[in-house]
Amino acid sequence: MGISRNILLWASRNEYLKIHVHKMNFVQKAVKRFMPGETVEDAIQATRELLKHKIPTTFTHLGENITTLTEAETNTQHYLDLLDKINRESLDIEISLKLTHIGLDLSFEKTLILFSNIAEKASALNNTVFIDIEDSSYLDKTINFYKRIKEEHNNVGICLQAYLFRTMDDLKDLMAIDPWIRLVKGAYKEPPSIAFRKLTEVNENYLALSKFLLQQISARNIRVAFATHDLILQEHIKNESKSLGLDKAKIEFQMLYGIKTSEQYKLASDGYKIRTLISYGEHWYPWYMRRLAERPANVGFVLNNIFSN
Ligand SMILES: Cc1cc2nc3c(=O)[nH]c(=O)nc-3n(C[C@H](O)[C@H](O)[C@H](O)COP(=O)(O)OP(=O)(O)OC[C@H]3O[C@@H](n4cnc5c(N)ncnc54)[C@H](O)[C@@H]3O)c2cc1C
Repeated sequence: MGISRNILLWASRNEYLKIHVHKMNFVQKAVKRFMPGETVEDAIQATRELLKHKIPTTFTHLGENITTLTEAETNTQHYLDLLDKINRESLDIEISLKLTHIGLDLSFEKTLILFSNIAEKASALNNTVFIDIEDSSYLDKTINFYKRIKEEHNNVGICLQAYLFRTMDDLKDLMAIDPWIRLVKGAYKEPPSIAFRKLTEVNENYLALSKFLLQQISARNIRVAFATHDLILQEHIKNESKSLGLDKAKIEFQMLYGIKTSEQYKLASDGYKIRTLISYGEHWYPWYMRRLAERPANVGFVLNNIFSN
């Protein structure tokens, strides 16, 4: 892991920077590259554009690690209202959220109730909810949470990270409940005792996990989304799925808004499923710093905005 990535991940957790960087005009302008705007309407407008290219979306309302259950309830209500709005607009938009945004730091049981309300509403409206995966200190809790939720709700998926050594074991364990999985490389700073450090190792593990998941797709009633912008990995996944005789329409990729957009269009026009995750909301600072850490060259883009109008 490069020093610049470490610094950016450290900055993502720094409260002083969070307050001050958030207010800087040139940073706000740069954020627009990854986020169409702070409001649901901005995200809906971006969805309409993507749908012209047959690309549906997933919405995430930014925020994490809240400190009161009142905030957890407010955030839950936001998602309930959002589901209604999506239904009224008849748009293909799923939702994805962080459990700490609806209270996981405060009460497991209360978060379970709040999430169940969201999953139930989503199910009634024929929609889907994914659980984002946060840093490894939340992993056991999040997986246990997912198992509890799956007892009652089938329309829920979980994200897992290829940079962790344990992910293959987690996947094998979860197969018993026919999970819906979104596979990512992983966006947090993790210690070398539990996570691969070198990108080549992370990529190798991502590929091994993908192969395992592709085999499971034909054997079980699971849904898998390969969430990566790594075009080499995407090619491997396409080839592997071909050799397993899987239909293109069964292979789902997911990518983030504003990253490799032309490749997203190409996946759609080539007949693969592709869904774009759009984040919105005022609390973009830690999320945005993680996006910069994924590609420290993006910092240059921020700096350019100091000089442009
Ligand atoms: C739909 C989706 C959901 C996600 N959910 C989670 C989650 O719940 N938990 C979690 O830990 N992580 C999540 N992530 C983030 C993920 O873990 C990675 O940090 C991120 O996707 C970058 O990894 P990559 O697979 O694209 O590979 P990389 O090797 O990082 O990138 C491959 C190529 O894509 C381009 N690229 C990647 N990121 C950027 C960027 N920010 N800006 C510009 N170019 C870029 C670069 O050209 C790079 O060479 C999610 C990612 C996606 C796409």
